[in-house]
Amino acid sequence: MKKDICSFTYEELKEEMASIGEKSFRAGQIYDWLHAKLCGSFSEMTNLSRSLREKLEQEYEILPAELEERQISALDGTNKFLFRLYDGNMVESVLMKYKHGNSVCISSQAGCRMGCVFCASTIGGLKRNLTASEMLRQIYQIQTITGERVSNVVVMGTGEPLDNYDNLLKFIHILTEEHGLHISQRNVTVSTCGIVPKILELAEEKLQITLALSLHGATQEKRRKLMPIANKYELSRVLAACDAYFEKTGRRVTFEYSLVHGVNDTPEDVRELTGLLRHRNCHLNLIPVNPVKERNFVRPSRENALNFKNNLEKSGINVTIRREMGSDIDGACGQLRRRKL
Ligand code: SAH
Repeated sequence: MKKDICSFTYEELKEEMASIGEKSFRAGQIYDWLHAKLCGSFSEMTNLSRSLREKLEQEYEILPAELEERQISALDGTNKFLFRLYDGNMVESVLMKYKHGNSVCISSQAGCRMGCVFCASTIGGLKRNLTASEMLRQIYQIQTITGERVSNVVVMGTGEPLDNYDNLLKFIHILTEEHGLHISQRNVTVSTCGIVPKILELAEEKLQITLALSLHGATQEKRRKLMPIANKYELSRVLAACDAYFEKTGRRVTFEYSLVHGVNDTPEDVRELTGLLRHRNCHLNLIPVNPVKERNFVRPSRENALNFKNNLEKSGINVTIRREMGSDIDGACGQLRRRKL
C-alpha cells in the first residue's frame, strides 16, 4: 500500500524525503502544496521535476474525500457536506458561518462504537478510524469548494476523537502548524464522551485546544442511562480528569449537555448540575436534543430550555443554549450519513 503523504507532519515529511534522497527544501515545497495550497494531486505540483512527481506518485497517495452531497441552509447559510473516502465510507462535515468567522465541524471516525442512546452516528457501529489526512481533507475540501476561509475547527462530528487518539494528535499538529493552514490551537475544540486515560494524556500534550466534555447527566446513574461509556469511567473520575486538564493547560473546559425532555431537564437536574459545576471554572453548553428517527427522545420546548438555562444562571453557572444552525437541512448529527448507508 502507498504511504498516506498528507498524514506526515512537517518534520516527518523532511525525514521521509531525506530517506528517498531528496533535499529538505523539496519537503518544504511538497508540504506547501499539500497543506497551504490544498492541492489534491501530485501532477499539480509544477515546481517539482517530472521525475520527482512520478516517484511521489508511485510511493505515496493523497487520500481523497470526494464530495457526495452538499446541502445549504436557506435560514443561516450553514453548509452540510457528505464526503466519500477511498474505500467508500462516508463522513459528514458542517460549515457554520458566524460573525467571528467560519467554523467547521469534522468527523473523526466512520461510525462510532460509543453507543450514546440519542446519537445517530453510533447506530451502525464503528467502521474505521479516519487518518489524520482524512480529517484534514474535510476542511481542505470545504475551503476549496466554498472559497471561504476556515478559522475555527470543532471535532464534534461522527466518531469519538479520543478513540482515535494518535491520528487526532497528528491532525491537530498539522492543522495548527505554521507551514499549513496555521489555525490557532485556541480555535480548535475536541469533544469527548469521557475516555478518562486519554483526557489525562491529552492534558500532558501542552496544547492550547479546548476540551469539550459530553456530560448529559449530572449523576452517575443518569449519565449511565444515556452513555454506555459511563459504565467504564465513573462520573467522579471524568470530572477529576477535566479538572486536571484545566490545571495543566489553563484552558477552561466546556461541558455539553443534550437536553432530553423528561429525562434530564427537571428541576432536580438543575440542582444536581449546579452542585457539580458551581465551583468549577467552566462553561456549560445546552443542546436541545435533535430527534433521531430511530430513537424516540423528545426535545424540550424552547420555553422549557430557556427556563432550565435561567435557573442555572441564577445559581451562578456560566451557561448558554447552543444556537441551532441549519435546522432546515438536516436532522440530527450523523443523519445525513445514515440516510446514505
Ligand atoms: N464523541 C464525541 C463527539 C461527537 S458528538 C462526544 O461524545 O463528545 C458531539 C456532541 O453532540 C456530543 O455532546 C453528543 O453527545 C451530542 N449529540 C449527539 N447526538 C445528538 C442529538 N441527537 N441531539 C443532541 N446532541 C447530540
